[in-house]
Amino acid sequence: MADVVLKNVNKVFEKSVPAVRNFNLKIKDREFVVLVGPSGCGKSTTLRMIAGLEEITDGEIHIDDRLVNDVPPKDRDIAMVFQNYALYPHMTVYDNMAFGLKLRKYPKAEIEARVNEAAGILSIGHLLSRKPKALSGGERQRVAVGRAIVRKPKVFLFDEPLSNLDAKLRVQMRTEISKLHNSLDATMIYVTHDQVEAMTMGDRIAVMKDGELLQVSDPIHLYENPINKFVAGFIGSPGMNFMEGRIVAHEGKLVFNEGHLLLIIPEEMQEVMTAFQDQEVTFGIRPEDVAAEGTVKDWSTVQAITATVEVVEPMGSETFLYLTTGKHPFIAKVDAHVELKINAEVPLIVNMARAHFFRKDDETTIV
Ligand code: ATP
Repeated sequence: MADVVLKNVNKVFEKSVPAVRNFNLKIKDREFVVLVGPSGCGKSTTLRMIAGLEEITDGEIHIDDRLVNDVPPKDRDIAMVFQNYALYPHMTVYDNMAFGLKLRKYPKAEIEARVNEAAGILSIGHLLSRKPKALSGGERQRVAVGRAIVRKPKVFLFDEPLSNLDAKLRVQMRTEISKLHNSLDATMIYVTHDQVEAMTMGDRIAVMKDGELLQVSDPIHLYENPINKFVAGFIGSPGMNFMEGRIVAHEGKLVFNEGHLLLIIPEEMQEVMTAFQDQEVTFGIRPEDVAAEGTVKDWSTVQAITATVEVVEPMGSETFLYLTTGKHPFIAKVDAHVELKINAEVPLIVNMARAHFFRKDDETTIV
């Protein structure tokens, strides 16, 4: 069992603002948890505290039911893969991978078996005698992962391991790390600022902002039920559309008045929105919940609107439309075959059952 538990963990760097604040999270044995958030939100610091590379200011970290606050990194049974790979340039790939085992005085035959096994898993057997400078970025990344695998640690920690790779290689390595997780049966904690990596790799995603953990959940739940506007906007690509407006009564129903658009609040949300009548709120809708009129959808609560097309981006499988209500810009993901002209006013449909509303003051989710 290799649960990783963080209890009320805080990190304050000298003379600076807190980097991590009151962080609580239990990562279950064999779980793949992704820490995600914008630059500077404290992801790497959290990971480095788990690794023991950074002292914690306050709180407790447990690995495998053992309090590790004062346990040095080498005794925590973890392996970390860094963004810059951190390979020894003067050593061959074999020696880079074997180094940690040699330090721990493993028998030569055991080292050889482990390095060869890891090299096989990662398809780098033909590179074992090369030095890092003779490898591509993707190959160096594999060696860095291989060096972690040979240790057979209980917990793998990844700090933005794919950010130096080109887009195609990143996608490839993403699936390889996911496969590794399935085959190695280890707990993995993975830091990234890339929400696509978070969505596609994590059993659970932990979203951080300004040193705080905002929400932890499986990817789909997080996507559909963000607790606030920040999480709603951070997860999803293109991101959720937001519009400011007011909840008002109109012909016996509550509507969201954007200024140019009038959107009827769906039946199931009417009651909860009553408390916000005559108040400013933020409306949120994902790009896939706006479609061209005439497109067949199985949406239960459809609202017709019109908006002006500003930019058309064909992606092949679908088209991103950049539109404006006249007051707010927004994006729709529409079918690829829909033909649209720039500056044309187009009829659209909105899937109001998937509408989100956020409070204006603290930006928390209303519904
Ligand atoms: P990025 O994605 O840019 O790496 P991050 O979310 O991983 O960002 P951290 O590197 O954990 O963020 O940094 C969190 C905060 O702590 C930042 O404000 C950063 O400037 C600060 N910080 C990090 N390391 C130190 C340090 N050694 N001394 C002082 N402040 C630090």
